[in-house]
Amino acid sequence: EQHPKQQRDSGKPNSSSDLPLESLKKVLTEDSAAGKVKRKRAQTPLEKYYLKYLCVTDLSTQSWCEQQMVYGRELPQLQAPETVVLLNTGKSIHLARELEVHDVVKIRTTSREDSWAIKILNLLSVIPVLQAGGCVRELPVFGVIEGVFLMGIIDELCYSAKGELELRELKTRGRPFMPSGAQKKKDYFQVCLYKYIFDAMVQGKLKPDVITSHIQLRPEQPLGSQIRDHAQKVGFTVTCFGDLLELMYLNLTLSDIPGIDCLKIEYNHQESNTLLGTEVVRFEEEKVRERAQYYLAYWKGQREVQGVEIEEAWKCQSCSYSEICDWRKKRAEGPEQRSGPKKSK
Ligand code: SF4
Repeated sequence: EQHPKQQRDSGKPNSSSDLPLESLKKVLTEDSAAGKVKRKRAQTPLEKYYLKYLCVTDLSTQSWCEQQMVYGRELPQLQAPETVVLLNTGKSIHLARELEVHDVVKIRTTSREDSWAIKILNLLSVIPVLQAGGCVRELPVFGVIEGVFLMGIIDELCYSAKGELELRELKTRGRPFMPSGAQKKKDYFQVCLYKYIFDAMVQGKLKPDVITSHIQLRPEQPLGSQIRDHAQKVGFTVTCFGDLLELMYLNLTLSDIPGIDCLKIEYNHQESNTLLGTEVVRFEEEKVRERAQYYLAYWKGQREVQGVEIEEAWKCQSCSYSEICDWRKKRAEGPEQRSGPKKSK
C-alpha cells in the first residue's frame, strides 16, 4: 500500500516545473479563481447599510462614540426617550428658524433624481441671496472626502459686520449650561466639515459627474412635472436632472461667493430659549482631513468599529446602549481581550 503522498508523487506531476506551459497557465488561472472565491471580500459598513453617501452628522456623532453611532443605526428603538424628545424639540426649533427666512413648499417627487433635484434647487435658490450679501438658513452642501460622498445642511450663513462670511451653527441644549469639552469637540468637527465641503463647492470642485457617479443617479432622467414647475418659479428652465447639475456647477463656480471665513457655534437652552454661549472654532484643514480619514476608514471596512477609550468611559454612563455594549463588556474583561486596534487619536 502506498502512502497518499507517494501516490501523488508516482501518479501526476506534483510541481509546476513538471507541467507544460499551457497546462501551467490553466492551473494558475483555476487556482486564482478558486482563491477569489475563498477570499470573498466582506461587506463594508457602507455596503451593509446600503449607503451611497454619509451625512456630516454621521461623522460628528461617530466622533463622540463610534460604537454608539452604530447601535443608534441598528437599534434606534433602544434610544432613551429623553434623547428622542430633545432631538425632536431641536428639529422643531430649526424649522421655526428656517420659516423666519423662507416658506416651505411641498413638492411631489417621482424618482430618486427628483429628490436630489429638490436639494439642488434649494442650493440654487440661495446663491443669489448670498451674492447680494444676504443671510441664508438650512443650506444644503455636498462633497467628497476620502472617496466618500458627504451631505450636510448648514444652519446659517451670514456676512459679519467686517464683511466676512460667517457660519452659525445652532445647538439647543436640555441643560441650562454650556457643554463639556468632549461635546464641543464633536460640534467643532461638524462645523469644520461644513466649511471643508462648502469651500470645495464654491471653488468648483463639485463637478456634475461627482454627484451622479457617487449617488448613482441618471443625468438623463426627466424631472417630474412638480419639480419642473417649481424650478420655473425660481427662475430655472430645466428638463432633466443633468440640466440642474450643470446649472448648479455653473452658478457655484461663476458666483463670487467666498469660502467661509469664520465658524461659530451658538448654544441655546431649549426650555428658556436663552443663549448660553458662543464658541468660535478654528479651522485646521489638515487635522479635519486626518480625522475624517480615520472615521471613514471604518465605513470603508478598513478597520473594526471602536467604542470609547478608558479615559472617556464616563460617556458610557449616560449611553442608551451601555447594557448591551460589546465594547464595554470587552473593556471590562481587560485590554488583552479587545480585538480592535488602538485609536490613534
Ligand atoms: Fe460607546 Fe460606551 Fe455606549 Fe458602548 S456603552 S456604545 S462604548 S458610549
